[in-house]
Amino acid sequence: MTGSGKATIVLIPTDALQQSGEVRYYTVTGSAGSHVTRGFCPNCGSQLISYVEEMPDMRFIKAGSLDDGSWVTIDSSFWSCTAEPWSPVDPDIPAFDKNPS
Ligand SMILES: [Zn+2]
Repeated sequence: MTGSGKATIVLIPTDALQQSGEVRYYTVTGSAGSHVTRGFCPNCGSQLISYVEEMPDMRFIKAGSLDDGSWVTIDSSFWSCTAEPWSPVDPDIPAFDKNPS
């Protein structure tokens, strides 16, 4: 999905999201059968946001798309079981094999 070893994603409550500009969405079936919708910039295809229909209260923002991402810190890794040797999991933060439950 990311085309890289990792994606830095910020989880925020849906109510806190302030979004401007057009976003195009594409929905896929996730690994657990959930419905994952991903939002892209319609001009360049950059990933901006995603959400899971079954978790309507949360939005997942691609940190690189934030107007000001200077406050972002990485405090955990998800899907560590899929880490590539060239992009290993940081051993100094909590890691989950898949999504935390
Ligand atoms: Zn763009």
